[in-house]
Amino acid sequence: MEQNSKKTVRSGEQLKKSRRTHALVRAAVQLVFFIAMPGAFYAGFAGIKSIFGSISAGTPIEMNGFIWALVLVAAFTILFGRFFCGYICAFGSFGDLIHWISGLVQIKLFKRKKQFELPEKASKFLRILKYLNLAFIVIFVALGLYAKLRGANAWDVFSQLTSLSFRFDGLTVGIILFVAVIALMAIKERGFCQFLCPLGAFFALLPMLGILRRDKDGCIKGCSICKKNCPVDLQLEADGFSNGECIGCDKCAAACPRANLAHPENKLIKYELVPVLIKAALFFALGSLIGLCRFF
Ligand code: SF4
Ligand code: SF4
Ligand code: SF4
Repeated sequence: MEQNSKKTVRSGEQLKKSRRTHALVRAAVQLVFFIAMPGAFYAGFAGIKSIFGSISAGTPIEMNGFIWALVLVAAFTILFGRFFCGYICAFGSFGDLIHWISGLVQIKLFKRKKQFELPEKASKFLRILKYLNLAFIVIFVALGLYAKLRGANAWDVFSQLTSLSFRFDGLTVGIILFVAVIALMAIKERGFCQFLCPLGAFFALLPMLGILRRDKDGCIKGCSICKKNCPVDLQLEADGFSNGECIGCDKCAAACPRANLAHPENKLIKYELVPVLIKAALFFALGSLIGLCRFF
């Protein structure tokens, strides 16, 4: 690969360390939020339903816990890109765990050389489904028909599991869909996030300030390492990093040989992972304040 800049190229050992440290820190943050705030995803999504429910009923929108949760996750997304999806959302983290286990089974047990992944073309096409899903839900809420769909989705089941209440009556369709979502997440990293999540579709439509930026001039010619490491199959050359589909996992940044991908705040703080911890702590504090933490 030809180099077109004098920026230092990270050695293989440095890259390995960068990826390992990023993976460990991310997993630790995800675990903390999975244990302490598993309902943040559900609450944010309920906020959307609450707003459209009031609009369709012609009643004023009253701030409740769900709408506060939506305000928090939306504000975080506008300020910091989809950090919520990459590090905080319990459903996304669950998907990462399923995909990781699926990889282990395929490689260790079935001796496959590489973990199976859906072809990129199929992924690009299937992304559209989540916008249709969001539109469908909003229409049903607006028509006052959403109650008929209660229990007929994977997130109601996930919410029951993480809240440890295990009341599964009326959730037969939801359980079938939840199993299908697990299968999807096993064959496609963040498959639910990319193809089906209505909250993800809402996030992807928001303007974002703090999304990763790439210094194109500092790139190694012909390099596509960031793209190969992207779970969302972003066409980086075409989309740049202003793409709302980016789930904010930072895997591309950790794998870049030039350390050529950064969030705006990385200009102020030298160590890439410090802003991650600050953002996580900020979300934790604000989330606790609005009642998302199950411990206090
Ligand atoms: S896309 Fe949806 S499920 Fe995935 S991490 Fe974001 S909010 Fe969570
Ligand atoms: S940003 Fe992507 S294309 Fe550019 S050097 Fe880094 S990994 Fe390679
Ligand atoms: S572009 Fe980077 S941060 Fe965004 S989803 Fe892909 S790998 Fe993750």
